Amino acid sequence: MSSPRLEIHLDRLHHNALSLNRRLARQGIALTGVSKACLGMPAIIRTWAEAGISSIGESRVDTLEGLRSTGIALPLVLIRSPLVSQVERVVATGAISLNSELAVLRLLAAAAARQGRRHGVVLMVELGDLREGFLAEDLQEAAGQTLALSSLDLVGIGANLGCQHGVAPDDRNMAELSGLATAIEAHHGVSLKWVSGGNSCNLAWLAAGGSRGRINHLRIGEALLLGRDPLSRQPIPGLLTNAIGLVAEVIEAKRKPSQAWGRCGQTSFAAQPTQGSDRGVRSRALLAVGEQDVDCTGLTPPGDLRIMGASSDHLVIEDPAGALVVGQDVPFELNYSALLRAMTSPFVQRTCLGLN
Ligand SMILES: *Cc1c(COP(=O)(O)O)cnc(C)c1O
Repeated sequence: MSSPRLEIHLDRLHHNALSLNRRLARQGIALTGVSKACLGMPAIIRTWAEAGISSIGESRVDTLEGLRSTGIALPLVLIRSPLVSQVERVVATGAISLNSELAVLRLLAAAAARQGRRHGVVLMVELGDLREGFLAEDLQEAAGQTLALSSLDLVGIGANLGCQHGVAPDDRNMAELSGLATAIEAHHGVSLKWVSGGNSCNLAWLAAGGSRGRINHLRIGEALLLGRDPLSRQPIPGLLTNAIGLVAEVIEAKRKPSQAWGRCGQTSFAAQPTQGSDRGVRSRALLAVGEQDVDCTGLTPPGDLRIMGASSDHLVIEDPAGALVVGQDVPFELNYSALLRAMTSPFVQRTCLGLN
């Protein structure tokens, strides 16, 4: 097997999907599995489907088209506002899209009419994290304009917190979303299928007994893939954090002084120059993985191994026991950022394990 490689344990991903889907279903909440950190990898999506996940969220139209061409029949959701230049393609995939611009909604409607299709939309509302969404005071008007576009279906409204400023979902902002849903329904005489409260950041709020109100839908990625709460990066009880790991190979193992010598300038990745402290001679290993493969700050090594630094193609590890040997595989846990980079790197292999 070549390295670096991602080891994807489908049985563990199945466990996470089954467990979370059931937990949310008991609370009347539907779940869209967000596969963007794994580029819509079909093996993962099939695993999620077997575990009862009934729709898939992706951020890029290319990925949606890829999923359609591999025969994935689940409903798809484009979780980023469609690009003006891509509205025709978005409509053609049959995906529902999340939207926050009237200009884009009008273009989607025109594209749908041209293609003889209907296109489902969720209107996003800004609840304080300052990423996507109509301002709350503009939402009612946007809903009216959307309803007037006859080739569009208003599937619901939604919000996204926790991404730009780490704003946490709470009873106040979720009640605001619920209130907006009720107001739109009352004002326009419609019924919204989804009140989409957010992403993995909403799970801690729910688990702590948060007041759900009208929230009946979440879009979940990190919790399914890595079993962690994005706001605290703590494990979510009952979910597995080791479903996906990274393996890299040792290409040098030596004892070297712990302090660099010579005059120091900037390092390859612009960190402040530092010679390190003199802790005597230490065992260190070089691994064949670097910034071209993964966000090295998001790797957690096993045992007492310690990451000392990384450049494009090398990861420097301190190995107190001096146990690592050349040619050995070393497994790492990864965070969301490291997972995303590894998945998008052409140099990282993907191996699926735990197939039945
Ligand atoms: C990425 C994303 C999600 C999923 O977020 P996780 O934290 O991975 O659960 C949900 N909704 C939107 C709009 C996103 O961009």
